[in-house]
Amino acid sequence: MSQDIYIPVSGDDPLDTSRQILSAIWEIRDLDAMILPQWHAANRRPEPTWITDRAALTSADPFAPVMTANAAKTTMDMVTRNGKDKIAIFLRPCELESLRILADRDRIELERVFVMSADCLGVLPEADFRRHLTLTTDCESITQETLQFAAQGGILPSRYKESCQLCHHPYPRDCDLHIWLFGVETHNGLVLSLRDDETAGELSKHIETLPVPKNIPGRREKVIQNLETWRGRSFGREGERYPDLNKTLDALAAHLRECQACRSRLEEHCPLFDSLDALDPLELKSWVRSCAGCGMCEHTCPEGYPLFSSILQIRHALFGRLSPDS
Ligand code: SF4
Ligand code: SF4
Repeated sequence: MSQDIYIPVSGDDPLDTSRQILSAIWEIRDLDAMILPQWHAANRRPEPTWITDRAALTSADPFAPVMTANAAKTTMDMVTRNGKDKIAIFLRPCELESLRILADRDRIELERVFVMSADCLGVLPEADFRRHLTLTTDCESITQETLQFAAQGGILPSRYKESCQLCHHPYPRDCDLHIWLFGVETHNGLVLSLRDDETAGELSKHIETLPVPKNIPGRREKVIQNLETWRGRSFGREGERYPDLNKTLDALAAHLRECQACRSRLEEHCPLFDSLDALDPLELKSWVRSCAGCGMCEHTCPEGYPLFSSILQIRHALFGRLSPDS
């Protein structure tokens, strides 16, 4: 049975508290490895990283508002390559959706993997992130700033990447551990929703746990409703931005046949795209249907083609939905 618990945050540092939680999970699950975003000093970016030493969690950052890759494919490769290891993963909701699609497609069981995620506060456009790096030597400050806005659902939504402004599943489903952020004053505490009460019980031996304050679930629901309303409107505006866009699979296929830049973008960044299949109408339809909305295909097309927006709008036109699970 699932159990929700509240972890008080000490020192006004929710990121540090999240690392303590991850460290405790490592010990409780007797893990061999974790895959999660970790800051890398060399390029000052949080990148999906395979960690085999628990001490490395001191630079883990599951909430950084920056996404260098959709880690679904890397995660799947590492999970299958290390078939005997006890592994935990921490992915964003859109990455988790991509991972599940890959697992279904390749018939890979994920049961042995401890799956963790969090309400997603969105990610910033690359240019904004770079600007932030020029202003500070403390990379993690961008995460701390973002977490300060969790109670209201994140920083102003208009500052996010286009994909995050349109995201309809910023909360994960079916996780072993889900960190609630929406509606939570993270400088005071974090809420964990754990799938099994045994892990919740074990966690309380490693870290202080309390009952979830009564006002948080209602506040979280309200924030989610507001986000959904805002994002629904964003989708309406998106349609108006490209009034002449041909929202058919044929038009998308024709563009992909012609545009090497868009094909390359997808080959490098979309975990679900297979270039060999791209010209087959059935495969193309299945790929568009499964798109997790992560936005890693957002780029500047030399032909001016709005690739991400096109995929999203075609999916909506064909399947009447904005995300794989909506
Ligand atoms: S698309 Fe959604 S889940 Fe993915 S990073 Fe953006 S807000 Fe988060
Ligand atoms: S098509 Fe774009 S938004 Fe969809 S999963 Fe692939 S990279 Fe992400």
